[in-house]
Amino acid sequence: MRKKIVAGNWKMNMTYEEGQKLTSEIVNMFKDEAVKNVQVVLNPPFPHIYPVKKLIGDTEGIFMGSQNCSDKESGAFTGEVSAKILASFGVQFVILGHSERREYFKESNELLSAKVKQALAHGLTPIFCCGESLEIRNAGTHEANVKFQLTESLFDLSPEDFSKVVIAYEPIWAIGTGKTATSDQAQEMHLALRRHIASKYGKEIADDTSILYGGSANPGNAKELFSKPDVDGGLIGGASLKSRDFIDIVKSF
Ligand code: PEP
Repeated sequence: MRKKIVAGNWKMNMTYEEGQKLTSEIVNMFKDEAVKNVQVVLNPPFPHIYPVKKLIGDTEGIFMGSQNCSDKESGAFTGEVSAKILASFGVQFVILGHSERREYFKESNELLSAKVKQALAHGLTPIFCCGESLEIRNAGTHEANVKFQLTESLFDLSPEDFSKVVIAYEPIWAIGTGKTATSDQAQEMHLALRRHIASKYGKEIADDTSILYGGSANPGNAKELFSKPDVDGGLIGGASLKSRDFIDIVKSF
């Protein structure tokens, strides 16, 4: 059975105090409201990892994530953070290939392939993002586009390694825009991705792969999105910065 996952992407937001407050509220609501059967992943900026991890403590169901890692193992790469270092601080998940990294930091499919391998080598679960621009959607090549992103960055993994990867489908036109994909659009793309995975790794691995939706998800639309058979959760940006909204999304299955 594939896992249901809701991951919060804080992006470059939250001071130390704000991050501590947000995490405490999320942990308390998660416990008080007895949330079950969903994995929650918090992905703050790097400096928050140690103190946020401390607040999560041994809370079952809440996991520590980060927003990026290096494609290199270690060495003279000033400003970079390796998967090895993250793992040593108790990080369990890492977002890779977010469209903001692809666009602003020119991360290529090839670079992302190396990052995924670093993450897996150190026991981190990659949350691998794919998604099309509005231009590509309007041209009608959105399905081919996301399949290509998976093929190029993931399809040289062994079946065993691939089965450790989580996919996030994030149409770029829906990220931070308030313009959510309809649940039918999300379902169509998630199914296409699952079939593409099955064509390479077989039905069993494809059926077990968690595919999250990302793009202006909020407490008002999460239930409808998560009701679709191939939508296994969400990668949440803006709404992950408000504890009540985030927990309401987590409870939307
Ligand atoms: C994201 O950054 O992954 C994201 C989905 O952002 P938002 O929810 O703000 O659209």
